[in-house]
Amino acid sequence: MDNPALSPDTVRTTCPYCGVGCGVLATPGDDGTVAIAGDPDHPANFGRLCSKGSALGETVHLDGRLLEPQIDGRAASWDSALDLVASRFSTAIREHGPDSVAFYVSGQLLTEDYYVANKLMKGFIGSANIDTNSRLCMSSSVAGHMRAFGSDTVPGTYEDLELADLIVLTGSNLAWCHPVLYQRIAAAKVKRPQMRVVLIDPRRTMTADIADMHLQIRPDADTALFVGLLGFLAEQSALNKAYIAQYTTGFEAALAIASPCDLETISIKTGIAPDQLLAFFTLFARTERCVTVYSQGVNQSASGTDKVNAIINCHLATGRIGRPGMGPFSVTGQPNAMGGREVGGLANMLASHMQIENAGHRRLVQDFWASPTMATKAGLKAVDLFKAVGDGRIKALWIMATNPADSMPEADLVAKALKTCPFVVVSDINANTDTTAYAHVLLPAAGWGEKDGTVTNSERRISRQRPFLTLPGEAKPDWWIITEVAKRMGFATAFAYQNPAQIFAEHAALSGTENDGSRDFNIAAHAAISATGYDALSPFQWPQSQRSGSSGGRFFAGGAFFTPDRRARFIAVHPVDTVTIDQRFTLNTGRVRDHWHTMTRTGKSARLSAHFAEPFAEIHPLDAAERGIADASLVKLHNDHGNIIVRALLTDRQIRGSVFVPMHWTNQFSGSARVDILVTSRTDPVSGQPALKMAKVDIRPFEAA
Ligand code: SF4
Repeated sequence: MDNPALSPDTVRTTCPYCGVGCGVLATPGDDGTVAIAGDPDHPANFGRLCSKGSALGETVHLDGRLLEPQIDGRAASWDSALDLVASRFSTAIREHGPDSVAFYVSGQLLTEDYYVANKLMKGFIGSANIDTNSRLCMSSSVAGHMRAFGSDTVPGTYEDLELADLIVLTGSNLAWCHPVLYQRIAAAKVKRPQMRVVLIDPRRTMTADIADMHLQIRPDADTALFVGLLGFLAEQSALNKAYIAQYTTGFEAALAIASPCDLETISIKTGIAPDQLLAFFTLFARTERCVTVYSQGVNQSASGTDKVNAIINCHLATGRIGRPGMGPFSVTGQPNAMGGREVGGLANMLASHMQIENAGHRRLVQDFWASPTMATKAGLKAVDLFKAVGDGRIKALWIMATNPADSMPEADLVAKALKTCPFVVVSDINANTDTTAYAHVLLPAAGWGEKDGTVTNSERRISRQRPFLTLPGEAKPDWWIITEVAKRMGFATAFAYQNPAQIFAEHAALSGTENDGSRDFNIAAHAAISATGYDALSPFQWPQSQRSGSSGGRFFAGGAFFTPDRRARFIAVHPVDTVTIDQRFTLNTGRVRDHWHTMTRTGKSARLSAHFAEPFAEIHPLDAAERGIADASLVKLHNDHGNIIVRALLTDRQIRGSVFVPMHWTNQFSGSARVDILVTSRTDPVSGQPALKMAKVDIRPFEAA
């Protein structure tokens, strides 16, 4: 990957925003500026960048940075801050047991940070109370994969999107949320005019620009649609019966729910006209090379896992998985949501995709770590974790690289819970978020451009994030902060890492350890690499075969899954009721093109902030007219949890009965528009993912008192 055309100062790194995981060339200038370009050699983006990635150089300045440790709002030395954290966690564990402490971490952490945080909590504290904001993003996909495949493995690759003849995008505004993947599809569609794109979304988002068909589905009706599709495939003799017989179980039970396929009934449940249903079902039945891409519109639901399995069922029924140009494909929202999955960053997982409920896996990991105590059951998932903070069960909480006082559902209750927690530690790059306000100890962390480690993107590709800026003030890498606390808690030997390369090598070695024989891959397979080799690491994709050492490609090409009988499982899922009469609006939350999460970084760029200068509520004009709401007027959205005031944006892109509000604005940027205070904390019973797109709200014109 040496490129003589690059400046000697140019560093190859990875974009810190979304799960596409684009390669970035960063060149720091003498005047403090950083020139940014897409890395033409990176297989995720081949030189492309979106607006957020292109503006990275505008977001690395130090305004608002946390530059020194603080205890109770006053500057403190690292030693005193770390001693206090270790001592308060140790005291809570001694007095109240290991489950009285918790970590809430983030898809912004690098894999090495995630690995040591998970190791400390699960293997040395002895609790599994470590969960991540990725719970809010893709845990329903994880659960769906586990149910169907026996492990959390994304089958496909980005290349499949370019090889497909049909791409079904459901619950995914790829144009704004994964823009470079959208660009790759748009370019492929020009080259291959036979490619068709179907968008399934209650909103006619910008992604509709490349869609041949837009199905404006009723919110939460995805299961009804894909169960209907399964019934249609059976009736049209479009099943791959040989594949079903040889590689799967459970088909009959899934089909019993799907049959007969009555388009009128499916139309009532989904809100999609029967002729459109017929057109989509027929296109799917006839197109062998088909990829179904899904994202938060599927995952962020109280029935998200069932939706995922309804989609996977259709691919298993047609045998369209593990081959070029076909498969179900969940795209992750965060830059390292996938890396977190690999090292067990979810409360119900162990490192290396092993399972905490599996005694053999627990033993293997405990032996590998030589740990004194091992968590024996799943810990608290994000929503339950903050409820446990609120009711006093959690005595010490450490929040890393995330802002739950804004981003969790029912965010005001989360803020109240933090206020009552006896001991809150926050490690972050920002001094003033709505979460840092509740911290007893603030620890200054390294930011993008300073961090050194790896991330994994949505297609399982591991890339380096490399530093090109000096650590400012007293900021330290997250892995260093965690290991220093671990040492002070008495675990010096197990956390004696000198650099992230050593952590990566340990992660790789664990991933290559033989488990119960149910898999023939490892994640990293670079256990023996030196620090120099780690520095030079080129982006690579797992799986890597333990036998052949080969890298990359698709999973399940040979039809062998990770279930005990090596067969994929159909899951018999029932559609939820989506036609209950409720006069209130369904509140859909999500991203805009140019902002990221709670805007702590993108809010620093005037260029990015110009796309939407303020938050808004997108409402159908007919709904607005019924309520006397004029375009661009202020409206109040309210429910039992609170109210927000934003400007109305009238557009027939929105389905009737639904309102869309972006999730980015916080107290810091607009005190009246923290939409997450309205969002329900109802969760999917399988995955624990909250139904972030399914709160109910009333809307009326705002009248100043
Ligand atoms: Fe960064 Fe995602 Fe944009 Fe790529 S698509 S540049 S990873 S935000």
